[in-house]
Amino acid sequence: MESLTNRKKVVEQKPMTFLERIYLPAIFQGLGITMKHFFRKKATIQYPDVKREFSTNFRGIHSLKRDEEGRERCTACGLCALSCPAEAITMIAAERKPGEEALYREEKYAATYEINMLRCIFCGFCEEACPKEAIYLDGDIPPANFDRDNFIYGKDKLVEPIHKK
Ligand code: SF4
Ligand code: SF4
Repeated sequence: MESLTNRKKVVEQKPMTFLERIYLPAIFQGLGITMKHFFRKKATIQYPDVKREFSTNFRGIHSLKRDEEGRERCTACGLCALSCPAEAITMIAAERKPGEEALYREEKYAATYEINMLRCIFCGFCEEACPKEAIYLDGDIPPANFDRDNFIYGKDKLVEPIHKK
């Protein structure tokens, strides 16, 4: 039958030559390729003894920042969640109560703030969308874990420690 694409190739089975029949040239050719790879730079690294250097624009785990007085910068405006293509961010906003001025910079703050690291694609849109410079992807790689719930990062994991400014 006529081929529709004309890409069909007719395969001919030629008889093997003497050299092909004794296999030795093919064996030496294979050994040559193996030897060549011995002297090449290794494509793998001995992790965790050796750690690969990250590029300068590497994005790791998010951190929620504090201001110079140690107050949480996030005002729970929700822009990061709106800009997240993976819908990985959820939050619950709350009003700051009298006496909490040293904890939260503005009247509204995130009582709950969660990022699902299994959904996150580390695009950095949340960082770009934030008008308060409250979120940065400046952490490490999320550590491996067997439990999916441990990849939901709440404020306990996200808010930077009080001493870090
Ligand atoms: S880095 Fe991208 S995917 Fe991850 S939480 Fe931010 S906006 Fe969403
Ligand atoms: S991290 Fe920034 S963008 Fe996200 S809710 Fe807080 S202030 Fe708004």
